[in-house]
Amino acid sequence: MRHDRQVRSLPSIIHLDMDAFFAAVEQAAKPSLRGKPVIVGGLGGRGVVSTASYEARRFGVHSAMPMAQARRLCPNAAFLAGRFEAYRQVSEIVMGLLRELSPLVQPLSLDEAFVDLEAGPYGPVLAEADLATAERLVVALAEDLRADIERRTGLTASVGAAGSKLMAKIASEQAKPDGLVLIEPGEERAVLGPMPVRALPGIGPATEQVLRRAGLNTVADLAEAGEAELVQLLGRSHGVGVHQMSIGLDDRPVVADQDAKSVSVEDTFEVDLADRERVLREVDVLAARCVRRLRAAGRSGRTVVLKVRRFDFSTLTRSETLRGPTDDEAVITETARRLASQVDITGGVRLLGVGVSQLADYTQEDLFAQAEREEAAAEQHPAPTGEDHGPVEEEAVVRHWLPGQDVHHDEFGPGWVQGSGVGRVTVRFETPWSGPGRVRTFAVDDPALEPARPLPLRRDAGRGEHGDAWAGDGGAGDAPAGDARAGDGGAGDARAGDGGPEDGGAAEPGE
Ligand SMILES: [Mg+2]
Repeated sequence: MRHDRQVRSLPSIIHLDMDAFFAAVEQAAKPSLRGKPVIVGGLGGRGVVSTASYEARRFGVHSAMPMAQARRLCPNAAFLAGRFEAYRQVSEIVMGLLRELSPLVQPLSLDEAFVDLEAGPYGPVLAEADLATAERLVVALAEDLRADIERRTGLTASVGAAGSKLMAKIASEQAKPDGLVLIEPGEERAVLGPMPVRALPGIGPATEQVLRRAGLNTVADLAEAGEAELVQLLGRSHGVGVHQMSIGLDDRPVVADQDAKSVSVEDTFEVDLADRERVLREVDVLAARCVRRLRAAGRSGRTVVLKVRRFDFSTLTRSETLRGPTDDEAVITETARRLASQVDITGGVRLLGVGVSQLADYTQEDLFAQAEREEAAAEQHPAPTGEDHGPVEEEAVVRHWLPGQDVHHDEFGPGWVQGSGVGRVTVRFETPWSGPGRVRTFAVDDPALEPARPLPLRRDAGRGEHGDAWAGDGGAGDAPAGDARAGDGGAGDARAGDGGPEDGGAAEPGE
């Protein structure tokens, strides 16, 4: 089963991961929060932490923790809703720097990517060099990259370099925060051995339980157990894969672009839906969820897809391609309803799905993971949910001021919402390049106060060749710039203004 070419002889794959990305962007944007605990995530009752700053982690706060628990552990932190447009803008700069190193850049999220250095301009040099020279070159490239990122964004990144994606990712984890770790080819088993089984990709809590019951706790245990035992425990394909990883074998290529991307949601019903109106109401709910995911990922799409599974399990899909990409809920809902009204539902419908395809950049799997977190972040909005079978309601006209949101005041200039309640909103007036600013309070409907787009983290960031996103006019130009709003990256009123097909962007909380 084994062949020799499964680990490169050079540590030419790097994994870059921004440090505490969402929280770090917030601290860079808001001088009064620097050095203080900052927690970004869903602020509603069932919200979860997306990212905690290192100051907050000292109190035990971490990603995916319920927000209520985070508030108990670290009551004095700044609790902020996410600003996905701001994160996307920083991500574009970072991904642009990575693409200077190689065309083979595989983003895993907004702040994380693999890069295959052998496919880039340094590939020929690496191929010629002896191991020691090649390692020095990889280290120099990675340190330059980290310095460039810090210069262009003010943020720190960690980089792992190794002969495989598996080891590069483990190396970047070891490098955190603000570091660089290179794992030499040949060291894989020594590095992996003592790690818990969960360190391997594809081993989640359920698999971990199975392995633990068999007495397998570390990666070395897996390697010693051997392929046959792992196949017996986990099944053929999973067992073989886990065994290969446990001995450091990973030949997954860095893949720059993937085709056929879509965002979709679906629901199976306990009782078949037999009534057309009911089907259309479900389509509305699904379309709204789909749009939230699409927006959370900063995407737009051109083709709307409806999936229907009928009472007899026959499944059909219908699609309609629009003239241009959209993330507009009304357009997507209307198109999905039109498709649904053309389908024969006699006998009943077991399952409905709504999707949008013809997107670019990120894999479907990533989009879903990101969107689930984003949905959690959007929970405080009265947005329709899967359980809500009523008609989709328009977002109320009442202004929402979300903690962390960018605003502009006619007299006091740019600032951000520190909090709001009982008809008042508190704004701190500061910018990424100012000192800590002063706080002022206004009526929530003060006409001088407007939502604003995020400011660049560096004042001159509009100049570099990757800095066009800062120009403030909507990037790719497919969407009207006037629609772009700073905000909470999802429910209701927040819009990404740059929905062109090649703009990078999806949101994932970082470590
Ligand atoms: Mg990260």
